[in-house]
Amino acid sequence: MVIEGECFCGKVSYKIEGLLRDARSCHCSRCRKAFSSQASAYALLDPEDFTWVSGEDLLTTYIDKNECGFKFCCICGSTLCGVVGGIIHGITLGCVSGDPEVQLGRHIYVGSKASWEIIPEGVVQYQEDVPEKR
Ligand SMILES: [Zn+2]
Ligand SMILES: [Zn+2]
Repeated sequence: MVIEGECFCGKVSYKIEGLLRDARSCHCSRCRKAFSSQASAYALLDPEDFTWVSGEDLLTTYIDKNECGFKFCCICGSTLCGVVGGIIHGITLGCVSGDPEVQLGRHIYVGSKASWEIIPEGVVQYQEDVPEKR
C-alpha cells in the first residue's frame, strides 16, 4: 500500500510504499515535550519504504545525545518522523493522511504519564518500555 502524509502547513509531504507496524503511544516526559501533547503516537516502518515528496529542504532535525531525534517542518513545527542513527525508523501518526491501517496497540511509559492525563481503559499499557526492549 502507499501511505501519504504531510505537515500542518502542507509544505512538507512524504509517501511510504509499504506497511506500518507496531503503532504505539509513549507517555514519557520527553515525548510530551517533543510532541507538545500528552503522549507521542507513532508507528515503525522499513526505512527503504520512505520517500520525501516535497519540502525536504524545510526540515529541521533535532538529535539528542543518544543519536535519537525527530525531523520537524521549520515553518509550522509539525513533528514528522523519528530518526535513530540518521535513519528514519518511525513516523508520527498525527501527520498521516487517511487510514494507515494500523491502530495504537500499546501505550508505553505509562508509569511517567502526566498527572493530568487520563488513559482510557482497555488498552495495553506498560509502565516503561515495550517488553522486548527491557
Ligand atoms: Zn509545515
Ligand atoms: Zn517517549
